[in-house]
Amino acid sequence: MAERIPATLQDRIAERLSFYEDIGINLFYRDRLATRPVSAVQEDTTSTAIAARNLTLPKAASKSEPAKFAAPAPPPKLSVLPTVLEVSLFDSISKIAGDSLPTILSDIGDCTRCKLHHGRTKLVFGDGNPEAELVFVGEGPGRDEDAQGLPFVGRAGKLLTQMIEAMGLQRKDVYICNVVKCRPPENRTPEKDEVSTCSPFLLRQLDTIAPKVIVCLGSIAAQTLLQTNRGITHYRGEWFDFRGRKLLATYHPAYLLRNPSAKSEVWKDLQKVMAVLGLQTKKGKPAETGKSS
Ligand code: URA
Repeated sequence: MAERIPATLQDRIAERLSFYEDIGINLFYRDRLATRPVSAVQEDTTSTAIAARNLTLPKAASKSEPAKFAAPAPPPKLSVLPTVLEVSLFDSISKIAGDSLPTILSDIGDCTRCKLHHGRTKLVFGDGNPEAELVFVGEGPGRDEDAQGLPFVGRAGKLLTQMIEAMGLQRKDVYICNVVKCRPPENRTPEKDEVSTCSPFLLRQLDTIAPKVIVCLGSIAAQTLLQTNRGITHYRGEWFDFRGRKLLATYHPAYLLRNPSAKSEVWKDLQKVMAVLGLQTKKGKPAETGKSS
């Protein structure tokens, strides 16, 4: 008799398949599509749908199988944002020689620099590979992150993990952190003074890790690092220079939980990141570079 797959594994497979379906990859779903109402399976001829259909998905890297790298794509064209807030918070700050993540964490200490410390359970510094080529920057810890002291471990975090795995990487391959290190009350947007108090530590983290690519998740991360007040829709998926590194902003996973149809846009953005990092999609075909590369 065939062995039963454990329920937790079944759940994980179901979640992963539903993520692939959400981002437009239907290759697992011939049978399910055949049982859907005709209106739901009508050919979608939008360019997004065509691009998503033509995708070959990278296998998620397992412990025994490291992510595969191809020759990196030619450097993408960089955009420049016209709207800049006051004087850049960052231009005047130079890289601190000999800085390290443990030093930054110890400098933050038992922080009381801004009012967010009042509601904090645990400070959420960041997590992952200190030498990562790819860093994801979110907004600030939520309830689960505050309880565990780790970034992106709640529902949005689960989705981020799926996105990372769809790129053929694992969480331990990348570094994940936030603009503010303490949870804003009721998960409200961090305020300007909180962002300006905390972001120098983010800057030091980014300078220290020195990744090839920084991906801003959502407006707050993007507006903070790009020093703009423009909404993310104006520049999502475009490449920028950030202190000599490539930076791209995409939608926050929490936004994707509320708007699953935006997942295909995010997947296109992540493919651009894969192309720059030389990460291969399935069967050794390099990831597509997209319009601005
Ligand atoms: N949202 C964020 O921006 N960061 C987290 O760590 C979790 C949720």
